[in-house]
Amino acid sequence: MTAPELKPGEYLTNRADLERTEPCRGCGAPMTWILTEKGRRMPLSVATARAVPCPACSGSGAERCQVCRSAGKLYALLNHWADCPQRSRFSRKKGPSP
Ligand SMILES: [Zn+2]
Ligand SMILES: [Zn+2]
Repeated sequence: MTAPELKPGEYLTNRADLERTEPCRGCGAPMTWILTEKGRRMPLSVATARAVPCPACSGSGAERCQVCRSAGKLYALLNHWADCPQRSRFSRKKGPSP
């Protein structure tokens, strides 16, 4: 099987995660949160989603595939911090401003 090529800052998620969005507190763009391999929560920009073949089942959508839930594809999204126009707000101080 071949892993889809990801650009720097891109992460894979499945359709269920893609539909569970919440707006960014900085710029209002829809984001979805994922857990990275290191167990950190990371927001991804839903607007950047592109479909890629599921690496676990080679895009076949196998019935037992847990990774894509038999959809055959996953979505590659960019880390929202990479393109959020308001990200400087978050990196400067801790916690949201009143
Ligand atoms: Zn799959
Ligand atoms: Zn934002």
